[in-house]
Amino acid sequence: MKLTILGCHSATPRTNTNPTSQVLEIKNHMFLIDCGEGTQVELRRNRVKFSRIKHIFISHLHGDHYFGLIGLVNTFSLLTRETELHIYGPEGLKEVILLQMKLSGGWTKYPLVFHELSSKVSELIFEDDKVEVYTIPLKHRIYTNGFLFKEKKNERKLDINLVYEANIDTAYFRKLKQGYDVVNEDGVLIANEKVTKDPILAKSYAYCSDTVYNEEMIPIIKDATVLYHESTFLDKNESLCIPTKHSTAKHAATIAKKANVETLILGHYSTRYSGYNEFKAEAKTIFDNVLLAKDGKTFNFD
Ligand SMILES: [Zn+2]
Repeated sequence: MKLTILGCHSATPRTNTNPTSQVLEIKNHMFLIDCGEGTQVELRRNRVKFSRIKHIFISHLHGDHYFGLIGLVNTFSLLTRETELHIYGPEGLKEVILLQMKLSGGWTKYPLVFHELSSKVSELIFEDDKVEVYTIPLKHRIYTNGFLFKEKKNERKLDINLVYEANIDTAYFRKLKQGYDVVNEDGVLIANEKVTKDPILAKSYAYCSDTVYNEEMIPIIKDATVLYHESTFLDKNESLCIPTKHSTAKHAATIAKKANVETLILGHYSTRYSGYNEFKAEAKTIFDNVLLAKDGKTFNFD
């Protein structure tokens, strides 16, 4: 699982800071999460192949999270893309994008599929044989969802020498990987754990931006491998959290602790601050394993 931060700042694009967008590589998928202004430039800068992006997840319709979307959709067209593009986002997103396309006199040459979201409870919005994606309802000034990307349980690993020693027919390998005991060529029942190893633990990534402190997300993100939680403000500006419906680094750390996640990544910094070490220091007073998002930074979680 690999996460590349294309932008991790709130509000406006500036010379050295980009609004929100990130790419999550998980089980051969390249999921684009939010698409602030300038995202396509950052995708190029970070050498992300456009053709690998087949799913885009938009948290909410504040400009710093999706103003780059129409540009990207249009560029895909100019690059003669043919593969489907799926966009998941709040109701209204389809209308905005289609109106811009209509008034510019052109439609995409590739299939553009919208999956509009309006539920206030967590729902499964994408699934294949390896990955599931759920919404995480957040509390912000407008309808907002975070997203939980979850690897499905990996299969057990065969210890091939032991399997052959146990005289098991290859027809049973599939069953062994699924965790079943099997009968060998001599009619003896072989316990699964004698010839297989534990699978690699399935990983998960919870993306939570933008939101005010919200304990209702805890059961959904419980035990996640990585939590990205917005931390727009430092403690000294906590009074801004309620009117703007944002969080502080301490709020993010409290959620990380209560949800028992392994790693917390902070981001969505207000552009009023020039450095971010204080965010980390404040979060670390509550939760130990804290990382700072930074535009252009890649995190590997293997
Ligand atoms: Zn917002």
